[in-house]
Amino acid sequence: MTTTISSKNIIGKMIPFLELGLDKKLLDEIEKQINTVVKSGNYILGPQLANFEKKFAKFTGVKHAVGVASGTDAIRLALRALGIGRGDRVLTVSATSPFTVIAILEEGVVPIFADIDEATLTLDVDDAERRVDKQSFSANKQSFSSNKQSFSANKKIKAVVPVHIYGNPCDMPRILAFAKKHKIAVIEDACQAHGAQLEGKRVGSFGECGAFSFYPTKNLGALGDGGMVTTSNLGIYNMIKSLRHGGQTKRFWHKYRGVNSRLDEIQAAILAIKLRKLDSFNKKRVILAERYKKNLGGLPIKFQQSYPTAKPVYHLFVIRTKKRNALMRYLAQKGIASYIYYPYPVHRQPAFGDFYDARKSLPVTDRISGEILALPLSPNLTFRNQDKIIRETTRFFRRS
Ligand SMILES: *Cc1c(COP(=O)(O)O)cnc(C)c1O
Repeated sequence: MTTTISSKNIIGKMIPFLELGLDKKLLDEIEKQINTVVKSGNYILGPQLANFEKKFAKFTGVKHAVGVASGTDAIRLALRALGIGRGDRVLTVSATSPFTVIAILEEGVVPIFADIDEATLTLDVDDAERRVDKQSFSANKQSFSSNKQSFSANKKIKAVVPVHIYGNPCDMPRILAFAKKHKIAVIEDACQAHGAQLEGKRVGSFGECGAFSFYPTKNLGALGDGGMVTTSNLGIYNMIKSLRHGGQTKRFWHKYRGVNSRLDEIQAAILAIKLRKLDSFNKKRVILAERYKKNLGGLPIKFQQSYPTAKPVYHLFVIRTKKRNALMRYLAQKGIASYIYYPYPVHRQPAFGDFYDARKSLPVTDRISGEILALPLSPNLTFRNQDKIIRETTRFFRRS
């Protein structure tokens, strides 16, 4: 994903897809804090990280949070801390960022893709259930290989990784019941959903673990890479704290084979400042999303639906239309950037196709990838610019 997506064209200034600019007051505060860290001489695993972890845990409504180097690593380390590794399987979706799946594969785990629900674009629990059933019958007959690695697929599914895609909470009550029934763990991919709620609880607090990314474009973004695992389980917490730092349990003593994946002090300090603004930034996203829905409601397009008790945070505002490509071209001509997240479902890509069993198709995932389009939405989008996007989108459908 590119950080800023904007360009000039002959018409003049484009309405960028995303504006990451911070206001002067916030920028001043961040610069001051960066200075403090620079002067402190303490850059890794220091007080800034401890403070941010505490604040992020409280914000999310969990007992613990562990800062790591990326959202990808957050998923990886959650899997590892749960004892899920080589040859195991986890259920997830193909309609996600490829990095969800990269994290799973990095641990030697085989991803099993379930389809998504057409309305919410999140994991279809009924379909997940069908895939578990099939697994227990055919598990021993299948084997997978990718990039010269072989995975023996003779073990059963150990976890489900639902993705709160575009900031829209998954059906967590049903997913938790599903996980309980099959005695598997739940790792929420909340990389696009910082602050989103369901039944009054923040996402990332439902499963054994939640995984967050602080990639600059995310709802809570660092000025670089970063990630976080949330959990209320003390054992998992201690394990991930050890694993991110080489698997040490005390200085120079490596009880586990860990990795190097830490959130540095400067990023933690910046994120702690930005966390205070997250709810208000998300609120602005919601206002913009509701304005889109109200003003585009009469057109032949579909919006992503949310569960009745959900409060989504609109990481992206995604519409669906059969005329997606033409609309995208038209908007570009009018100086409006729009993007497709994601144009290629994970299971259709060369790097991941081995893990896709063609006999168990993913019709909804395939269909929506040709229809989805994200319109500009970020806390810095002005109503004026949004009105232009609404006007041009409306004009496109009226004339065609
Ligand atoms: C961004 C993202 C990731 C990966 O996070 P990184 O910090 O870029 O490693 C994983 N899953 C989803 C759904 C994401 O949006």
